Amino acid sequence: MTTANQRRRRVYMDHAAASPVDGRVLEAMMPYFSDLYGNPSSLHNTGREPRKALEDAREKVAKLINAGRKEEVVFTSGGTEANNMAIKGAAIRARRKGMHVVTSTIEHISVLNIAKFLQKNGFEVTHVPVDRVGSVDIGELERAIRSDTTLVSVMYANNEIGTIQNIDEIAKILEGKDIVFHTDAVAAAGRIPIDLQNSRVDLMSMSSNDMYGPKGVGALFVRDGTSLEAVTQGGGQERGLRSGSENIPGVVGFGAAAEIATSEMDGDGERLTKLRDRLISGIESGVEDAILNGHRTMRLPQNANFRFRYVEGEAMLLNLDMAGVSVSSSSPCTSKSLLPSHVLLACGIPTEEAQSAVQFTLGRDNMDDDVDHIVDTLPGIIKKLREMSPFSAKNLEEMQSSAGHRDACDRHGN
Ligand code: PMP
Repeated sequence: MTTANQRRRRVYMDHAAASPVDGRVLEAMMPYFSDLYGNPSSLHNTGREPRKALEDAREKVAKLINAGRKEEVVFTSGGTEANNMAIKGAAIRARRKGMHVVTSTIEHISVLNIAKFLQKNGFEVTHVPVDRVGSVDIGELERAIRSDTTLVSVMYANNEIGTIQNIDEIAKILEGKDIVFHTDAVAAAGRIPIDLQNSRVDLMSMSSNDMYGPKGVGALFVRDGTSLEAVTQGGGQERGLRSGSENIPGVVGFGAAAEIATSEMDGDGERLTKLRDRLISGIESGVEDAILNGHRTMRLPQNANFRFRYVEGEAMLLNLDMAGVSVSSSSPCTSKSLLPSHVLLACGIPTEEAQSAVQFTLGRDNMDDDVDHIVDTLPGIIKKLREMSPFSAKNLEEMQSSAGHRDACDRHGN
């Protein structure tokens, strides 16, 4: 006999790790795997349709972010490649002017590792700190800028804790300065409105899978007049910045996903914000010692991230998995290491609390009853884990009182 729990569908709230490709996106991509297989660089007839599809997709991505010209969009193999193209490309191009780069402590691991690469190669990098909710300290950022600073790279919104940065404030600091401003908008693009014609941002990274497009496709917005050294050498595709045969089905899928995001972002954002807020208030009222990570209002619509004192994130993740819920304990890009999230540590959260974090990332397929299921199931799981945890307040108290009792017995020679 199946129970109600076994019959209910799995609740997937790990959309930051992977999102399903939208059916409309898949449909748009299909012909480019078979009938329309040509190379867009070919001069003959077979190359014509893929070439048009590539430029149409560029137009759709440009429209999503209100870029001035579609040529400012350069397709890549994802957010990681876009970040490499931007940060290495800008820093290396300007190296004769200066070798100092500013970034933040809560960037995605790809940005942090690019920063390490630059340091190994003679650049200086300043990592600006964030406050308890993950907002970059604007005063510290201003103080970090020097005469030899050539690039500032601060993410638009954090993929783990959902905090949206004050990009306009950072832009104000950079106004009139000959410094390239890059932002990793992988978590934000397609989710919240971005208007690059009314922004000081020079370079912006995006990823298709974060907006229900295929994986392995992304783009870098390169504002006209921003000079980059190419980090990939080859046949000169994508304005010489990303050589290699274009992934036409992927790019077409990204274009379709961007077009859908442009028209549906407002409605989706509103619906997900309501669902997210129900999840947040349900957890806060149902679980003691549950603390929301990240900013309460400057927050991506799809993100809720909690730390649950006295329990361990992985144990909670496995118990939720058994209850039919898929979530992450930290960024999927670093979760294999089982180390606490560098983002939470950078926010000043103590290690043992950072280890208790669970990240819920909602998506188009989530409904009210998914939130209900989590809000109903979580308190029981946490209660069980806390009863077993040596670090729970109750167990610590018991341990302390029995240690006190043992001391007293020792003193009395018992
Ligand atoms: N930056 C951020 C903020 C991300 O969340 C991710 C992963 N989704 C990336 C960069 C890397 O993107 P990709 O996996 O497409 O290379």
